Amino acid sequence: MNNQIIWFENLKRNDIAKVGGKNASLGEMVSTLGPKGIRVPAGFATTADAFRHFIESNTLFDHIGTELDALGAGRITLQEAGRRIREMIVAADWPEDLRSEICAAYQEMADRIGAKNPAVAVRSSATAEDLPDASFAGQQETFLNVRGEAELLAACKRCYASLFTDRAITYRQLQGFDHQQVALSIGVQQMVRSDLGGSGVMFSIDTESGFDKVVLINAAWGLGENVVQGAVSPDEYMVYKPFLEDAALAPIIERSCGAKKIKMVYATGGQQTKNVPTSRAERATFVLSEAEILSLARQAVTIEQHYGQPMDMEWARDGETGDLFIVQARPETVQSRAEASAMKSYTLKSVGPRLLTGLSVGNAVATGQVCMLESPRDIDRFVDGSVLVTSTTDPDWVPIMKRASAIITDHGGRTSHAAIVSRELGLTAIVGTGDATHVLHDEQEVTVSCAEGEEGFVYAGIAEFEVNEIDLGEVPETRTKIMLNMANPAAAARWWRLPADGVGLARMEFVISNTIKVHPLALTRFDEVKDVDARAEIDKLTQGYERKSDYFVDTLAMGLSRIAAVHYPRPVIVRMSDFKTNEYADLLGGRQFEPPEENPMIGFRGASRYYSENYKDGFALECQAIRNLREVKGFTNVVVMIPFCRSPDEADKVLSVMAENGLKRGENGLEVYVMCEIPSNVILAEEFAKRFDGFSIGSNDLTQLTLGVDRDSEKLAHLFRERDSAVQWMISEVIARARKAGSKVGLCGQAPSNDPEFARLLVDAGIDSISVTPDAFQAVKTHVANAEARAVQK
Ligand code: PEP
Ligand code: MG
Repeated sequence: MNNQIIWFENLKRNDIAKVGGKNASLGEMVSTLGPKGIRVPAGFATTADAFRHFIESNTLFDHIGTELDALGAGRITLQEAGRRIREMIVAADWPEDLRSEICAAYQEMADRIGAKNPAVAVRSSATAEDLPDASFAGQQETFLNVRGEAELLAACKRCYASLFTDRAITYRQLQGFDHQQVALSIGVQQMVRSDLGGSGVMFSIDTESGFDKVVLINAAWGLGENVVQGAVSPDEYMVYKPFLEDAALAPIIERSCGAKKIKMVYATGGQQTKNVPTSRAERATFVLSEAEILSLARQAVTIEQHYGQPMDMEWARDGETGDLFIVQARPETVQSRAEASAMKSYTLKSVGPRLLTGLSVGNAVATGQVCMLESPRDIDRFVDGSVLVTSTTDPDWVPIMKRASAIITDHGGRTSHAAIVSRELGLTAIVGTGDATHVLHDEQEVTVSCAEGEEGFVYAGIAEFEVNEIDLGEVPETRTKIMLNMANPAAAARWWRLPADGVGLARMEFVISNTIKVHPLALTRFDEVKDVDARAEIDKLTQGYERKSDYFVDTLAMGLSRIAAVHYPRPVIVRMSDFKTNEYADLLGGRQFEPPEENPMIGFRGASRYYSENYKDGFALECQAIRNLREVKGFTNVVVMIPFCRSPDEADKVLSVMAENGLKRGENGLEVYVMCEIPSNVILAEEFAKRFDGFSIGSNDLTQLTLGVDRDSEKLAHLFRERDSAVQWMISEVIARARKAGSKVGLCGQAPSNDPEFARLLVDAGIDSISVTPDAFQAVKTHVANAEARAVQK
């Protein structure tokens, strides 16, 4: 037989029948993408015919058939059948022609490289007509650091045998596919010394949400198998693709350091590879530099463009030369096949006795067994998919919340940040039930219903319910802009398919409390921090940063950029920090920098902090993060918003501090908005309009301050009404006056999200935009469309 070996440079992507998808793809890249800067290690493939030749010359077809028949008839187990077939293959002899072709090709590779017995990676590439290669992903084996003819031939046989792993047999049985029709091509590829460097996986799409404008990169130390197998928690990076063409920008929108506890390196003494623990320094260091992240992302885009579809790739960095290589590329299959997301609405059929009432978050119904926890430290006790019951939640609970089917709390109002986070994560939650932790008990089966409007109910037992999907294509168009309220950057991409007009409120506080965790002044004045535990914790968090304050700027810019990226070029209004003093004090090292206050809600909050000597340096860091977002990452769609601005005089002071920090309103297209959430903002609307590009009505605080009702009080919840005529008057008044002054005006409070009908009042008053939580988007859009149609008819 001739041509049982084909060099990668002679292969094309349509050679799948000859060499399987994996090798065909390597060949395609070597033969066509080299000039475009994609480096793929050299190598060759054995053909599917070579495999058949190997099987036939050992008369293995019949033997394999006998074992599979026995398995089919139930005479032997899957494990027995698999083991026997694999043993037969490994014990079989090489047909002489194939053996010598493989050895000759290996010799040629040695000559090309100029090294004796070069180390190679031996990979399996399954072929089968009519079956997409991706279905085989990860089913066959790879052998790394294989040296010399004997080791190579042994690894090749083990690749052949891996066509009959238990998993592969089961897969083909489930697919109703003939075992005898599959074949296996072996890829023999020059090793990249990533044992001394690093390696990982990357996708040209967000694997969680299907958002297609980002590249997602995972990286760990050593050889890539640990990342592929999920044996390590790798670093994770995300890059915004559209800005990669501009060499002046560095659009990295996520960078998180993984634990990377082990790394795979070369072994000696009969073994090819082994896992060793990583050093403390390795664990704390990012595997990839900024330039490498961008280089890999550019390569991912080149490969995706070449193949014309989202791709799943493996990469490796040679520790000796520092060069980056692509060692595999195949089409991404999960997200690119998923249907464009539809929205769901829930209807309960029959329910058990009502046990509890609270405020509903989200609009779904969830069922499950109760799991009661007192602290997020008890995470190990949490049973996945159960209903989390606790007295209250804060961002520390997020990892548990994500694993829960629903959440029930004793405390908290609807505008509490905990409720807002649940919404964004798409979780079903009922907050402020008063006594869930007493009424419910562990393992009790319950139904959590947020599908019945403002009130959320907990019913005994598992109820039946119906789910209706709403086609996003049916969302009506509206003249009024409908935007989104966002806090958690990790949740932003989840909603990328919503036809929103941008983000009307991105709350910076979430990034600070959840990711940064440190008070900004505890970073700028670290030497003064007295709390020993906080100092240690801060040292740990800021590892790798020359200046501690850079950690704040970098992390904040990174978090916010994920929100900005999902919506670019539509506006994303980022609000500067609006914690209350008690919340700032709770940040690491924060207590000593915050005055104790009787009424933090109306205390040292919002604009008053930014120009104050007691926070100015912290505000400077916030400004730097905004500059980084706009100037380094390229998100010029970011608009700045100032919260809780009590007077025009305060506005002037804040605007001048911003200008000192390089954020001058009007320069480089920078727009600055002000929240309208204090009665003074309404009363002096014309004065504020002179100083800002627009208003965003914060109905949460505006209601609190107009009616004198504590927004966080469960006892007063019935008095907290945005529909109250006094509040309505405030809203209509500021809309009319802002418009007259030529200023844009929107609303970002919770009211229309909880009560979509509320949007009608806003449209009638002539509002420009309404910003709502993502789950309420569809309903608000519909109400606004109806209101607009009615207004035209009048
Ligand atoms: C508001 O007050 O309505 C608002 C949107 O801001 P926050 O809820 O963060 O105070
Ligand atoms: Mg507010």
